[in-house]
Amino acid sequence: MTPEQFSDAVLDWFDRHGRHDLPWQQNKTAYHTWISEIMLQQTQVTTVIPYYQRFIERFPDVRSLADADQDEVLHLWTGLGYYARARNLHKAAKQVAYHLDGQFPETVEGLEALPGIGRSTAGAILSISTGKRAAILDGNVKRVLARFYALMEWPGTSQAQKQLWQWAERNTPAERVGDYTQAMMDLGATLCSRSKPSCLLCPLQAHCKALKQGLTDQLPKPRPKKNLPEKQTLMLIIRNGDGHILLQQRPPSGLWGGLWSLPEVADLRDAEAALGLSIDSAHSQPLEPLRHTFSHFHLDITPVLTELGDCCESVMEHPPTLWYDPENPQTIGLAAPVKKLLQRASRQLTGS
Ligand code: SF4
Repeated sequence: MTPEQFSDAVLDWFDRHGRHDLPWQQNKTAYHTWISEIMLQQTQVTTVIPYYQRFIERFPDVRSLADADQDEVLHLWTGLGYYARARNLHKAAKQVAYHLDGQFPETVEGLEALPGIGRSTAGAILSISTGKRAAILDGNVKRVLARFYALMEWPGTSQAQKQLWQWAERNTPAERVGDYTQAMMDLGATLCSRSKPSCLLCPLQAHCKALKQGLTDQLPKPRPKKNLPEKQTLMLIIRNGDGHILLQQRPPSGLWGGLWSLPEVADLRDAEAALGLSIDSAHSQPLEPLRHTFSHFHLDITPVLTELGDCCESVMEHPPTLWYDPENPQTIGLAAPVKKLLQRASRQLTGS
């Protein structure tokens, strides 16, 4: 199959069956494409749509995003996960708004120089918003190409990446490149799905090597298995006399950077040194443990609910702290397991 035949088949399928009514397809500016592409990384379209709509309603352009407080940006991201995306989005918005006169660069290299934008995202922004020829290689496109060409190794190796980019570049057309980008993403997300691809409906079926060789359920090859290390932590759910819960802000970078979290200690006896509070075990009760899995380790959290009563609300102010009101939650970004623990604690306290 020549590159022209490949792209023609994909575009023809897109015209008849692709998605044309997604919110970010209505006004294809670099800003809209960028926000949607970042949200869509590791996240499905149906999940992204309401987040995208709320985000664009609050931040209609790059300037409004640049001027916002990071807490508000993280708040609108809460639940989408991978918070480094939101922090980078905010940083990149400041660069575009304050140093590039509000204009996004119009080259892959220029876009890639912005925080959080890799080669594939740069290609998507450029091709969709300007129509300039640029290839993409997101997770969906990788899956289509790995199957179409029967790539027999895990796509994450640098050798496989190189090969996949060559295929991606070769098949990208000069005309209608924005539609082609959208079409390849759609094809991977709908027909060439992770399990049970709908090959009978696929415009590439006649030349797909994985289909011919009966390998569609084995490709792409999975990442070689490794046992994730386990870490343990104790999170304190400290409740004052008003029913408010103590939160601390995480440092700006690293795990859950900039998000609000529960105080963590290795042992209850450490709380006094860490927070200036004496945690009396008579007023503390452990709650059901929670396991949160990151890409590189499991975190086993033991939550401990501690009632302070009316006695003491002064705690050390480093790092920044606040008393979170579960009845009227503040507009802040919360780490996903922390949100879950706060809900559990509320249920436990109300007996619901
Ligand atoms: S024929 Fe099947 S496996 Fe091959 S690209 Fe199409 S949907 Fe994917």
